[in-house]
Amino acid sequence: AKRKGKNTYQYFDQKLNERIHRRFEIEKSLRRALECEEFKLLFQPQIDTVTKAITGAEALIRWEHPELGLVSPGEFIDVAEDSGLIVPIGKWVIREVCAYIKKWIDAGVPLVRVSLNVSPRQFQDENFVDYFTQVLSETRVSGKWIGVEITECGIIQDVQYAQKTIMELRKMGIAIDIDDFGTGYSSFSYLMDFPVDKIKIDQAFVKDMHIEKAGAIVKSVISLAHNLNMLSIAEGVETEKQSTLLASYGCDEQQGYFFHGPVDEVEFIGLLTSGL
Ligand code: C2E
Ligand code: CA
Ligand code: CA
Ligand code: CA
Repeated sequence: AKRKGKNTYQYFDQKLNERIHRRFEIEKSLRRALECEEFKLLFQPQIDTVTKAITGAEALIRWEHPELGLVSPGEFIDVAEDSGLIVPIGKWVIREVCAYIKKWIDAGVPLVRVSLNVSPRQFQDENFVDYFTQVLSETRVSGKWIGVEITECGIIQDVQYAQKTIMELRKMGIAIDIDDFGTGYSSFSYLMDFPVDKIKIDQAFVKDMHIEKAGAIVKSVISLAHNLNMLSIAEGVETEKQSTLLASYGCDEQQGYFFHGPVDEVEFIGLLTSGL
């Protein structure tokens, strides 16, 4: 029994070593990834609950690591946030989204607004707005085609700064969505001070929506959004049942595997051109 115990420890040691090694490898190669263009963007459609038309899309980053294979953002965004590399990565995302939009406009693709994720550290970066302004003017893309998804923690760290930044983005026509709503520990009183366009209901609530209490929360968030003159969108919609329930609650838009997962540029253009 003792020997077995030892083997088990060795097994866990090995697993732990692999995890530490992987994290170390990710940290080390993140910088190179930017230079070598190992990142790419996928697009996930957002659907109007009533008309079922595509009304927008979320840009989601992917990393094709030469040795580790596909590394999901769940694995490297935190690492990038800690090291500060999220700022140049975030700049790449802004540039990439604007370049795509420019290309699609020129090609006559029937366009929708594309929202990109902005991490707290990137949002707090003092050059964030200037960089956005610069890229929009260089690519001659209107901010009306762009949205940003910010989490509550990105906002409440410095409320005054956040307010100013959000105002400036909105002046450019950029829409502001609150991501992962309800998962932070903040009170939602800050919503009174922020001209936000849309509240994005976190997938954790959508997943449990068949349970009465989670359903009640989803319902309340949708009314909260409407009472504040904002729109609501639910993410992580995986079943018809969830979609129907959200519709009955008056949720404006939906996003999730039930409609479509994230797709590459070619497939996305196909969806925009000929529908889901
Ligand atoms: P998020 O912003 O909450 O994005 C939603 C995540 O749910 C995405 O995971 C998406 O692929 C996934 N998803 C979509 N539909 C469904 C569904 O029906 N069911 C389930 N279970 N999941 C669904 P992904 O692409 O792996 O991204 C994970 C997180 O990484 C994102 O969470 C976001 O916080 C972050 N992220 C992704 N791209 C970027 C980026 O360009 N910049 C920054 N700063 N963060 C990003
Ligand atoms: Ca998001
Ligand atoms: Ca989210
Ligand atoms: Ca999330």
